[in-house]
Amino acid sequence: MTGKSDLDVIVVGAGFAGLYMLHRLRGAGFRTRVVEAGGGVGGTWYWNRYPGARCDVESMEYSYSFSNELQQEWEWTERYAGQPEILRYANHVADRFDLRRDITFHTRVAGAVFDEGEKRWLVTTDTGESVSASFVVMATGCLSSANLPDFEGRDSFSGETYHTGRWPPEGVDFAGKRVGIIGTGSSAIQAIPIIAAEAKRLTVFQRTPNYSIPARNKPLDPEYVREIKAEYPELRANNLRMHAGFGSRVHHNDVPASSDDADDREANYAARWQHGGFTFLGAYNDLLRSREANETAAEFVRQRIRDTVQDPGVAELLCPDNVIGCKRPCLDAGYFETYNRANVELVDARERAIERITPNGVVAGGREFELDCIVFATGFDAMTGALLGVDIRGRGGIELKQAWNEGPRTYLGLSTVGFPNLFLITGPGSPSVLTNMIVAIEQHVDWIADCLRDLSREGRATIEATRQAQDDWVAHVNAVAGLTLYPTCNSWYLGKNIPGKPQVFMPLIGFPPYAQMCEQVAANGYEGFDLG
Ligand code: FAD
Ligand code: NAP
Repeated sequence: MTGKSDLDVIVVGAGFAGLYMLHRLRGAGFRTRVVEAGGGVGGTWYWNRYPGARCDVESMEYSYSFSNELQQEWEWTERYAGQPEILRYANHVADRFDLRRDITFHTRVAGAVFDEGEKRWLVTTDTGESVSASFVVMATGCLSSANLPDFEGRDSFSGETYHTGRWPPEGVDFAGKRVGIIGTGSSAIQAIPIIAAEAKRLTVFQRTPNYSIPARNKPLDPEYVREIKAEYPELRANNLRMHAGFGSRVHHNDVPASSDDADDREANYAARWQHGGFTFLGAYNDLLRSREANETAAEFVRQRIRDTVQDPGVAELLCPDNVIGCKRPCLDAGYFETYNRANVELVDARERAIERITPNGVVAGGREFELDCIVFATGFDAMTGALLGVDIRGRGGIELKQAWNEGPRTYLGLSTVGFPNLFLITGPGSPSVLTNMIVAIEQHVDWIADCLRDLSREGRATIEATRQAQDDWVAHVNAVAGLTLYPTCNSWYLGKNIPGKPQVFMPLIGFPPYAQMCEQVAANGYEGFDLG
């Protein structure tokens, strides 16, 4: 890459965001290069190859909509596609739109410094290269910076260790092994049933029990696929009007939980439980606004756990006591059933915290669990981890780390004061992780591509959010979250999973009004931005 200073845009990351950004920018005539730390495209689906990894938004909707030819020709095989299939799809997209020639793989962006005189970013990489461009787009992912907690003695373990978000491409053979898994979030809940079936013994270290809803994954019926494809543009348009950018084909019951009596509520929850997937949380419109309403749904799930898990003590340990939905809900295939297996043990790591890791295993509550392998299903430094992993310096040498030391501050989740010509895709302050992320990605990419086209047409060299617009935006994001139950539990949305991380509710709730605001901002000549 050295010497390529004739670039208009550098895009960091080649997941779904970086791939589509490259396609749009190239189409608009911008000289663009994508820099990707991994050895291939796909981002999340390149790194998260743990057993059972699959999407939790249905495949027919968790896919790009920007090309009708693409969505017509690609054949999804399951209701929720598995990781290998989604990775094949990302590779297909890269080939179909000839994207690879502008992507540099195996290269991590280490720093980016804004040169105020030249009005260009100088980007440096871990391979010792440097390259400059007028704009930088951070397509670095909200869930790409793996969180490996600093357990005492972690590196002394003599067996094998894995993180779900950095899974070896060749896979792992657990046969005959004593495996420990730390964490019970979405990744663990998908992996546990499969590892349990393979390993000699599986010990699950659970700090916080989680709600999980059956995915009811199944092969896709060709008739159903034909039906969707016949009306794809309409489905995509309807999804843009949905709160989270998906699910317009299922019924969202726009009434509060109190409008049904207990029997009808139970029947409603049961039907949705049977259908599987996030439809469950569409049972009533106040589940994330009223504690009373929420408790009816939460208790329904607890009852299913008690019905499923034979040992009543284990069932109680698995029953969450927080608000359902305020952490990202999980979808599973036989998760709770797994605790009926004789080779699976649940360790309460809340009461009996993990004390340390030894060469032989994990010590929790004073007992040593001897293990051959430890799987860290401990999640990510979400939303800010990958952004702050790059040494970004804006106007006057200000560091992004410094600017965000009390939590991320953005305007529209797209831009931050002091860092002209730097765009974030699905950044903090935008709906991002509370949506079907491909919808959020496409909306951001389209907005950024249109913005660069407009700047170029008007001969503008820089764009930067104003302090006032940013302050108002941060207040808006907090105010919207404050009307809901989202801030009530220790979620990664709030940064609570990372010791010392500032606790700020990072995503904006509600996709459709957000997309409308972005459109208005552009239509009003990029209101809230200074154009230089
Ligand atoms: P990513 O896919 O994370 O890609 C970012 C890329 O940037 C990575 O390849 C990374 O290597 C690269 N990168 C980061 N920093 C640097 C750097 N400094 N230099 C160079 N390269 C860098 N969302 C949904 O909507 N539905 C789902 O069903 C769903 N399932 C998920 C399942 C799992 C296991 C996980 C972890 C997430 C899931 N998500 C889901 C969220 C998922 O992250 C998004 O849907 C989407 O794939 C994000 O795409 P992206 O391109 O924004 O980021
Ligand atoms: P996660 O939801 O953050 O779960 C991490 C787990 O590790 C939690 O159970 C957490 O406990 C535990 N943990 C973390 N640090 C710990 C420590 N020091 N000691 C003990 N336990 C610790 O991470 P994830 O499961 O990887 O999922 C992250 C997100 O990725 C999801 O919310 C979702 O958005 C996405 N995802 C989606 C799917 C899908 O179904 N399509 C699958 C995987 C991931 P606490 O809860 O107590 O913090």
